[in-house]
Amino acid sequence: MNFDPASVVSQFTKLADAEVKTDEILAPYTSYQIGGPTTIWVAPETAEAVGRILEIVNAAHIPLFILGRGSNLLVSDKGWQGVTLYVGENLSGWTIDDRDASVLAGTLLTDFIHIAVANGLAGMELMAGIPGGVGGALRMNAGAFGQEIESVTVSVKGFRFDGSPFDAARNEIDFDYRRAPALENAVITSACFRFNREQIPVLKQRMQEILALRARKQPLEYPSCGSVFKRPPGYYAGALIEEAGLKGERIGGAMVSEKHSGFILNVDNAAAADVYALIRRIEDTVLKSFGVRLDREVKLIGEFEDTPG
Ligand SMILES: Cc1cc2nc3c(=O)[nH]c(=O)nc-3n(C[C@H](O)[C@H](O)[C@H](O)COP(=O)(O)OP(=O)(O)OC[C@H]3O[C@@H](n4cnc5c(N)ncnc54)[C@H](O)[C@@H]3O)c2cc1C
Repeated sequence: MNFDPASVVSQFTKLADAEVKTDEILAPYTSYQIGGPTTIWVAPETAEAVGRILEIVNAAHIPLFILGRGSNLLVSDKGWQGVTLYVGENLSGWTIDDRDASVLAGTLLTDFIHIAVANGLAGMELMAGIPGGVGGALRMNAGAFGQEIESVTVSVKGFRFDGSPFDAARNEIDFDYRRAPALENAVITSACFRFNREQIPVLKQRMQEILALRARKQPLEYPSCGSVFKRPPGYYAGALIEEAGLKGERIGGAMVSEKHSGFILNVDNAAAADVYALIRRIEDTVLKSFGVRLDREVKLIGEFEDTPG
């Protein structure tokens, strides 16, 4: 580590609209409940604070990681050496104007979807139950049951890592399956969405059906990051993993779910290294068995080592 954390912390502390911590353990910020400490943790309370944080980070040449609500991450046991910029509850809230909504990036997606549905706004109700924040959902182009966040997005605001602000219309963002490369190397601070109008009871019922379906099909009783792998063209990752004989496979405290083989669960205080070793075993076995190279949906943060065998 060749930066001076004390100087950066002192500059962050002077910001009136940001909370700062040092050596903060990241596990509690992730749905996996896994991950070591980060040198500096900073949570901006305004979009302007994000701009100022980026200026300080750039001047000090510190590695930067953007933490949303942590539901698609595997954070190393060694944590993240650098700044973790947390876009969470400190930067959340929304305003609704007829069919339009402006939503801060740290807002929990599910909280907002419940509000949208209660206001008769259709377009996100099938995404109910997807954990995480609005910023993470945009960055991942999150979706479920044929609905993706892309389809209701009008524009996305934030800052590029170089500190320049942006306000990008949807057609300027290259949304794709579980990715939006134009939003990489950027901090999303808010987004505008436009919905269709539908009867509130109809929307509520649709949402309840989806939530019940998720509870039936997904192993929600253990910490996880959801599907570890993207859907390979022409296949389902879970089915390939199951057919390769890896259902229930376990390394340390990490286990391939018996209910949904696309999920790797933290069943007993798993280390990130356990989950990672299981990811590598799945990738190798599926490649050898079917010639299919699985593409990871989960984002690995920090250092991971491949162990032989
Ligand atoms: C039980 C379970 C079920 C799931 N089901 C689904 C599903 O049905 N469909 C689906 O698409 N996903 C699903 N997921 C995965 C996950 O919920 C989504 O990917 C979610 O949108 C991630 O949002 P997050 O805020 O948690 O992002 P994080 O996990 O914190 O981060 C994910 C990526 O986004 C970046 N990021 C986060 N916030 C910002 C920001 N403000 N600005 C810039 N970059 C940012 C991070 O740096 C990282 O690269 C599931 C996860 C779990 C645990």
